[in-house]
Amino acid sequence: MADVFLGLGANLGDRGATLRRALEVLAAHPRLRLRARSRLRRTAPVGGPSQPDYANAVARLETSLSPWELLRWCQCVERRFHRRRTGRDHPRTLDLDLLLYGDWSCSEPELTVPHPRMFERPFVTVPLAEIVPRLVRS
Ligand code: ATP
Ligand code: CA
Ligand code: CA
Repeated sequence: MADVFLGLGANLGDRGATLRRALEVLAAHPRLRLRARSRLRRTAPVGGPSQPDYANAVARLETSLSPWELLRWCQCVERRFHRRRTGRDHPRTLDLDLLLYGDWSCSEPELTVPHPRMFERPFVTVPLAEIVPRLVRS
């Protein structure tokens, strides 16, 4: 079983409800178990066109899915929440990023893990520190 961290974001629609519901849908997969989740935070968007604030959270899961299977499952859940793929940093109903997958790493464009920008993003590091303080130096 792998110890996995996901970053969740939403800035269209009912953001809080989407993130709570998305976590339920994600963790309903028979090969995934939710271990911890941060509180939801409201954050200003970074980059991209002018757009509404985000709700963000980080979740810790345990899974027997491979990293690529987990990516596909995240994309499937995004689609279920009517995510349209417009472009990086564009507004969306749901964004699920694979932050860490145990100590596995990969640098393919389709899957770069650890997520290359996670440690420079307070909307990731703050909720991450809430659930695993030792992962993030203050
Ligand atoms: P960022 O990755 O900077 O947070 P984004 O979330 O806005 O940007 P998306 O448009 O959601 O980017 O995804 C673009 C592509 O990134 C996806 O097609 C996906 O294959 C790829 N990708 C690479 N690494 C990851 C990862 N760790 N988690 C999720 N998607 C990833
Ligand atoms: Ca993202
Ligand atoms: Ca993404």
